[in-house]
Amino acid sequence: MPPTIESEEQKALRTAVSTLGKRHGRDFTTPELWTEAGKLGYLGVNLPEAYGGGGGGVSELSIVLEELGAAGCPLLMLVVSPAICGTIIARFGTDAQKQHWLPALADGTRIMAFGITEPDAGSNSHRITTTARKDETGDWILNGRKVFISGVDIADATLIVGRTEDARTGSLKPCLFIVPRDTPGFERRQIDMELNAAEKQFELTLDDVRLPADALVGDENAGLLQLFAGLNPERIMTAAFAIGMGRYAISKAVEYARDRTVWNSPIGAHQAIAHPLAQSHIELELARLMMQKAAHLYDTGDDAGAGEAANMAKYAAGEACVRAVDQAVQTLGGNGLTKEFGLASLITAARVSRIAPVSREMILNYVSHQTLGLPKSY
Ligand SMILES: Cc1cc2nc3c(=O)[nH]c(=O)nc-3n(C[C@H](O)[C@H](O)[C@H](O)COP(=O)(O)OP(=O)(O)OC[C@H]3O[C@@H](n4cnc5c(N)ncnc54)[C@H](O)[C@@H]3O)c2cc1C
Repeated sequence: MPPTIESEEQKALRTAVSTLGKRHGRDFTTPELWTEAGKLGYLGVNLPEAYGGGGGGVSELSIVLEELGAAGCPLLMLVVSPAICGTIIARFGTDAQKQHWLPALADGTRIMAFGITEPDAGSNSHRITTTARKDETGDWILNGRKVFISGVDIADATLIVGRTEDARTGSLKPCLFIVPRDTPGFERRQIDMELNAAEKQFELTLDDVRLPADALVGDENAGLLQLFAGLNPERIMTAAFAIGMGRYAISKAVEYARDRTVWNSPIGAHQAIAHPLAQSHIELELARLMMQKAAHLYDTGDDAGAGEAANMAKYAAGEACVRAVDQAVQTLGGNGLTKEFGLASLITAARVSRIAPVSREMILNYVSHQTLGLPKSY
């Protein structure tokens, strides 16, 4: 680890993004904030300098998302566009793919969504059946279905995880394809979610979607390595999303509990209100420490070490966020459920970090099997 947990540059980034976030606040509009953050270089802090990025890593990008979330204005697509798609293209894309995508993902003028989840596979990604077939012209033909894919409507393209036809059985040999939004046969249907967010989720159908040979990112036989190069940053970024939201909720609750007086002293003086808030603050800090460890391992090239830490960070942050939001709502009493105070809608939003991109239960499975060496039930 570096001598201090965060470098002076990282601390300065935290302060600068926090200032931007506070200026936009809870009433933010996503496209406006996205554009401004892009111009300031925050969306691409993790991408290579040679392609218009900031030359940092997921450590820096997670700071951006956490601070925006803590100010009440998280940008969900940061988890996907620069973190998953940008990383995979930067690490495994051709020079032409890098030239075409990275500068635009970095300045925010283009957005890329990411689709792995399928209706009949869910948590078991090994069961995905979206299939890519190469025809005699060298084009790829994709067929399949995806579900819960975020931001497909605002994304210029979606990075779709498929498998090659001859790898239909056995363990997953994933292949990654850039599918532009208006490609014939690529249809989307918005899912009606109980989420108060600008980013929508979609069910996708790919019906004989024809793509040129250069739509494939990386090697079709590379296996899981390329996929996890994107999925570990996704987990770290989901932790940042959760920590930011948890911090926002706790800050609103603390503000309220300092003033609200219904007996002789403010409600914050009652330990039944104060202690759970203090506990949440500690849990969020601990989750951030794990997130920083995961980001540090990933940024220094330890993909295997980062995998375990990213899972643990996502777990810790999701749990801390759910508890923080729950306690914040309780602290406000009836006002916790009003639109004016805006905390109730965070109850469902917080649950996202417990379910996606990998559920709490699947992380516990991972730690049981991979870390503790316990036998598998499935
Ligand atoms: C708001 C939101 C945005 C999303 N955005 C994207 C996106 O952009 N791209 C994308 O690809 N996906 C996205 N997802 C999908 C998300 O990654 C999945 O919902 C998640 O992986 C869980 O899959 P599932 O919903 O099919 O649940 P299932 O796999 O059906 O699981 C249901 C429940 O069973 C439990 N379970 C399953 N198997 C086991 C087991 N072996 N042991 C113990 N418990 C088990 C799970 O933990 C869960 O609690 C998004 C989801 C949401 C809610």
